[in-house]
Amino acid sequence: MKINSHFLDLKESYLFSTVGRKTAEYKSAHPDKDVIRLSIGDVTRPLAPAVIEAMHRAVDDMSHKESFKGYGPDRYCYGYESLIDSIRGSYSRKGILLDRGEIFISDGAKSDLGNILDLFSADNTVLVPDPVYPVYVDTNIMAGRKILFADATEENGFLPMPDFSVDADIIYLCSPNNPTGAAYTREQLGEWVRYALEKDAVLLYDAAYEYFVTDPALARSVYEVDGAKECAIEFCSYSKTAGFTGVRCGYTVVPARLAREGVSLNKLWARRQSTKFNGVSYITQMGAAAVFTEEGERQIRENLDYYRENARLISECLDRLGIRYTGGKNSPYIWMKCPSGMDSWQFFDYLLEHANVVGTPGSGFGRNGEGFFRLTAFGTKENTEEACRRMECLLAHRG
Ligand code: PLP
Repeated sequence: MKINSHFLDLKESYLFSTVGRKTAEYKSAHPDKDVIRLSIGDVTRPLAPAVIEAMHRAVDDMSHKESFKGYGPDRYCYGYESLIDSIRGSYSRKGILLDRGEIFISDGAKSDLGNILDLFSADNTVLVPDPVYPVYVDTNIMAGRKILFADATEENGFLPMPDFSVDADIIYLCSPNNPTGAAYTREQLGEWVRYALEKDAVLLYDAAYEYFVTDPALARSVYEVDGAKECAIEFCSYSKTAGFTGVRCGYTVVPARLAREGVSLNKLWARRQSTKFNGVSYITQMGAAAVFTEEGERQIRENLDYYRENARLISECLDRLGIRYTGGKNSPYIWMKCPSGMDSWQFFDYLLEHANVVGTPGSGFGRNGEGFFRLTAFGTKENTEEACRRMECLLAHRG
């Protein structure tokens, strides 16, 4: 028996464990200090009332033999039509028309971002922005694929554009981006679509943070760009949109006309899902279906506005300090340059020790993340205000 030795090529993921260990060590040495975490990507607001009510109704359905649900409907890979139709409605409000069979309900974007690779040969070359959400790199290392990096730097506003002299088969784009908060305009995405069509490549577009976009020039879906249905798969999530990080629900769009080597990727994905996946629970799907109702959307917008306000507080604090950053405007992440030439971990230690504020060192997201630092807007307003006050005291008179 042989193991998949590509797993041995994975780097230990030290980032969040080291952040956690250093924070715990500091707290045990200074039990009187109130440490504020602006490091985690998890949400803090509870589910919207419309979602809770829908889930309660679904629990009741499960308790009567007339309305009990077992496995979900086969027809749409176990997605219920009411949920699929609410997602179609949300796309059509963006001017994008989708058929029911193009939407696949998932237990979150992370699983599908990894699982989609079942469709592609191990010989394909992958292009991944650096820095980026680590899942794209690790899942391809596990499969033994060759990975190229597209540099996301201050010079290109952390939005790498295609280099037509480089040949890639699978390209990941994440917009608004984790960790940099940078987001592509429709024109910029149009260039990536042009690249993918020319190279016969596939774009894997992670739109987990699309609900944070308010600037009308920025894209919320890759399908806002002509030609994207011939080259792109889109991954979406209720996690950050509606606080589903602990509930688990998302959706993946594989357009019917997306084909490679004469084979429909939509059909391949349906085959893959019906073989390896038995769907998302009825109760979860009914909760998710309430998100895009009029009432649900109004309520989740209130939660999103709460996080936006936190992002504004952090951005304004950095503006006053004269520290450069991206994100914070159409994204819950603020990606700041470490002050006084510190590297990412030096700044982490400095901020923890002197302001008792925890963030995430940018170097953990890729080589180009060195010298940067990620703060999130997902904390409470009180903690965010206090963290900003402390950062301002600490950093106002830096050398
Ligand atoms: N994509 C990005 C860019 C993320 O940052 C995250 C979570 O932090 C995910 C996907 C995962 O989302 P989900 O909770 O739906 O699996």
